[in-house]
Amino acid sequence: EAKRRGRNTLQFYDQELHRQAFEVQQIELHLREALGRQELSMLYQPLVTLSSGAVKSAEALIRWDSPVLGAISPATFIPVAEQRGLILSIGDWVIDTVFEQLSRWRAEGHLDLRISVNVTPQQFEQDDFIEKLEARLNRWSLPGEAIMIELTEGTLLADLEASNTRLSQLRGLGIQVALDDFGTGYSSLAYLRNLQVDVVKIDRSFIWAMHQDGPTFVQAIVHIAHHLGLRVVAEGIETAEQAGAVEALSCDLGQGYLFARPLSAEQFGEAVRHQVTGLSRLNMGSVG
Ligand code: C2E
Ligand code: MG
Ligand code: MG
Ligand code: MG
Repeated sequence: EAKRRGRNTLQFYDQELHRQAFEVQQIELHLREALGRQELSMLYQPLVTLSSGAVKSAEALIRWDSPVLGAISPATFIPVAEQRGLILSIGDWVIDTVFEQLSRWRAEGHLDLRISVNVTPQQFEQDDFIEKLEARLNRWSLPGEAIMIELTEGTLLADLEASNTRLSQLRGLGIQVALDDFGTGYSSLAYLRNLQVDVVKIDRSFIWAMHQDGPTFVQAIVHIAHHLGLRVVAEGIETAEQAGAVEALSCDLGQGYLFARPLSAEQFGEAVRHQVTGLSRLNMGSVG
């Protein structure tokens, strides 16, 4: 019986591997065409200043609506793009699209907006990454200060020395850097000392765990980040309780469905103009 079960499990495992390989192949196939067919778009999720409720920045998040495969999450297709040599063309498209949109917002008078863009290891390691960014800034008449780059610990720690060289080049352009999904990698708080970043984004798993584990972990990250002069973003805030907790711990900014889902460029423009997110309600003390 045990043997038979073992064989079934193996067979299932084998089928599962095949299914996954097929899925990756399908994604690659259709993703190759997606750029030219205008199937990709960008959404903008507000980052809210917890103390004031102000919205002056957003994270740019890519979306892919495939006529064949349907809507595919970037958590699924970005790793495929990274594996199959498609990430650089997608990454360039993201930067151009975001920079163009940002230049439009600036033309409308929103001169203090900052938009953050996610960048993968292969993008970050391009020899001409910095030159390309500088050329794009010039093309869209943007100051580097209008841009933030989001990198994960894994991206930066692969080669600490090379990373710090690149980080100081970004700094030279005025571009800020955020450490994304902080706490999920294999690194420790000690690395924060060695990395020239401006912002730490605490991964949502820590925010969600506070309900059970209490504030200790998030509190420790905030203390050390602030000690090093970094700003702190709490990711994945879905409840008023979480918002209250991270504000009490002096997190600087919050991001999450409580405040706003990722929005279209038009919707984000409106949110900035009217400064309306879920937090406006929070400040009036009427979140239910
Ligand atoms: P990320 O950079 O950590 O982005 C945050 C993710 O959390 C986004 O998922 C966002 O929609 C989601 N999120 C925000 N607030 C909440 C919340 O309150 N609850 C929950 N459950 N989720 C929330 P999304 O848009 O599906 O993106 C997933 C990942 O894909 C991103 O994680 C990032 O690693 C990658 N990605 C997205 N856009 C781009 C892009 O333009 N370029 C690159 N290279 N990667 C991207
Ligand atoms: Mg991010
Ligand atoms: Mg993140
Ligand atoms: Mg994440």
